[in-house]
Amino acid sequence: MNFDDYRGVWVFIEEKDGAIAPVSLELLGAGRQLAEKRKTALAGVIIGENVGDLAQSAFEYGADVAYVYDDPIFRHYRTETFMKAMLACVQKHKPEILLYGATSTGKDLASAVATDLPTGLTADTTQLDVEEDTGLLLASRPAFGGNIMATILCKKYRPQMATVRPKVMKALPCEKGRSGEIIQESIPLVESDVRTKVLEIVRATEKRVKIDEADIVVAGGKGLGGPQGFQLVHRLADVLGAAVGGSRDVVEAGWIGHHHQVGQTGATVTPKIYFAIGISGAIQHIVGMQNSGLIIAVNKDPKAPIFGACHYGIVGDALEIVPLLIEGFKAALG
Ligand code: FAD
Repeated sequence: MNFDDYRGVWVFIEEKDGAIAPVSLELLGAGRQLAEKRKTALAGVIIGENVGDLAQSAFEYGADVAYVYDDPIFRHYRTETFMKAMLACVQKHKPEILLYGATSTGKDLASAVATDLPTGLTADTTQLDVEEDTGLLLASRPAFGGNIMATILCKKYRPQMATVRPKVMKALPCEKGRSGEIIQESIPLVESDVRTKVLEIVRATEKRVKIDEADIVVAGGKGLGGPQGFQLVHRLADVLGAAVGGSRDVVEAGWIGHHHQVGQTGATVTPKIYFAIGISGAIQHIVGMQNSGLIIAVNKDPKAPIFGACHYGIVGDALEIVPLLIEGFKAALG
């Protein structure tokens, strides 16, 4: 493999509600820094139907080039079709680095592409850097239960691929009117070649609160004693207009669904205010909420590790304190 053939930093651009998904904007921000260190171009790979406008938006957030696959066959995400487009693009244009958001789509696509290309994939990265002279990607992620950070290198193969957690990288400010080069691409793929058919899209009926987008998150842990105690978390969240989060232990106990889990194997959140109620503060939880603006913890154990990670701590029984908080906030907010 001749490394000199591989140039450029690429980001797989995910679409959400007709715009670029926030995680892809964050990756364009991170990718820009890598590209500048390597003195190379930053490109976005856009796959979908009627996605031409996304290219302009990618330029405004840092991309120099957009590879666009615009075809009705890409209307819905399907592993098979998107993988074929991405593989064709990689084989033709040979990027040095290829980043995907660690979303369900990004993880699915990255792992499918990695099975076909003779290269590796670092999953769930939280830090990225590149060696200026060699182009070696330094992809770091928590390992061994979050106790150490492992930096993973792909020394012998190209492209170097990583999925990156949402909310850990920073998007650049939008530079209106910034332009770049659009390269239209296509692959000879017809619907009858594709084994997967999308028959219907059924939206989840559960009232799903997006904890990774909320300004306030009220999160509860095992200290609430059971599903009934956990209702206090919902009540406090309702009063504050907040999203509800949980530790892994309450998710595993079935007190709340997995998409509410905060931490290493759940979501990374950065709300303005984070309440940790009856949560011990294990490192695997802390890594998912430590960048919140203001952290308020309630725990009956004054030695609980969460008190080392919060701005304000209340030592006491959550079952007594949370009802007081609910009444207090209700009165204050009218
Ligand atoms: P506990 O550890 O049982 O803590 C309960 C806390 O409540 C204690 O501090 C106790 O003092 C307090 N308490 C008890 N009664 C009361 C009361 N009446 N009032 C007030 N406080 C009270 N965890 C996550 O959260 N997210 C993850 O993504 C995650 N990923 C993991 C990945 C790996 C590979 C591993 C090994 C673990 C992971 N964990 C994760 C689990 C993590 O290590 C902890 O086990 C978990 O966070 C503990 O949940 P908890 O704080 O709710 O429960």
